[in-house]
Amino acid sequence: MTSDAKQLAPALNAWYVKGARDLPWRRTRDPYKIWISEVMLQQTTVPTVIPYYKKWTQDYLTVKHVAGASLERILKSWQGLGYYQRARNIHKAAKLIVEKYSARIPDDYETLRTIPGFGPYTAGAVLSIAFDKRYPIVDANIRRVVMRLLAIKKQATAQVDKDVYAYLDKIMPKRNLRTFNQALMELGALVCKNKEPLCSMCPIKDRCKAFKRGIQELIPQRKEKLTHEIDVAVGIMERSDKFFIQKRPPKGLLAGLWEFPGGKVKKGETHRQALKRELKEELGITVKDAAFLTRIKHFYTKYKVNLYAYLCNTEAVLFEDRNKKWVGKGEFFRYPMPSGTAKLVKHLEDTL
Ligand code: SF4
Repeated sequence: MTSDAKQLAPALNAWYVKGARDLPWRRTRDPYKIWISEVMLQQTTVPTVIPYYKKWTQDYLTVKHVAGASLERILKSWQGLGYYQRARNIHKAAKLIVEKYSARIPDDYETLRTIPGFGPYTAGAVLSIAFDKRYPIVDANIRRVVMRLLAIKKQATAQVDKDVYAYLDKIMPKRNLRTFNQALMELGALVCKNKEPLCSMCPIKDRCKAFKRGIQELIPQRKEKLTHEIDVAVGIMERSDKFFIQKRPPKGLLAGLWEFPGGKVKKGETHRQALKRELKEELGITVKDAAFLTRIKHFYTKYKVNLYAYLCNTEAVLFEDRNKKWVGKGEFFRYPMPSGTAKLVKHLEDTL
């Protein structure tokens, strides 16, 4: 063990034992549950994940329960967490684990990496936390801690991640790896925060180069945020207290989720023009009148969507099939939807 590890690991571990949050996935070493928590926590905050994790692990007790569920049910359970590809990968992975590995999550890196959704981070997290194997992991919190420890005054890039990984690989202790990795993550979340890090409370401040130089808040350097704004016009068609929804294609953005018909407003179009064009293209129907109902704003990672909803009057008859349904107010919960559409449904249920 290097001298760095001799000092860092015990200080981190001692702090973790006293200062870590009691989170539901920290009460288990079941690799299935740790896997689910790690996937949920990618791109999503801890307070948001807690109720989803609790419900998921009640609804799907083991990997076999996930493999045996329909994709539609899995997507419904995921609704609101976003990045639905994560849920699709969990479903694919669960089926593979059941078929090929007798429902046991493999405990070696090479095999895990062949399973859908097990990138280097997820594989390393499951191996270290569930199996206590020696795999460094780099997530946003750990990257920030190490960049500050070493005073790497750069933007977070793939090369920086390689450098962070190489450093962790050098200093990682031989034992109690699960605590070491989780302590680094927790330090990043609670103390070495993105803005206003709490350096006075930090157990490793004596070894932190950024702290010594007073440059911790400049690390990592920020990337310029590009937020695009997209206007979408959607049609709400009502018939005998039921509303028409349709399923998105099985591939591409928000694949397989249910939504109201409509689409992006093109440059130079009014919202009503876009709505009429989209409904003609998608369903072959002509909308006679469209009355504005509400606007729903929703933020995705790289863009903001303004969903303009119109109550549509059309004489066309729309039939149901596998991908098209008339749904009553109390039935929407059965259909997995993008978060923006789910907000619109709530508005309908509260107001119409
Ligand atoms: Fe982060 Fe401050 Fe600790 Fe350095 S001293 S690791 S900047 S919290």
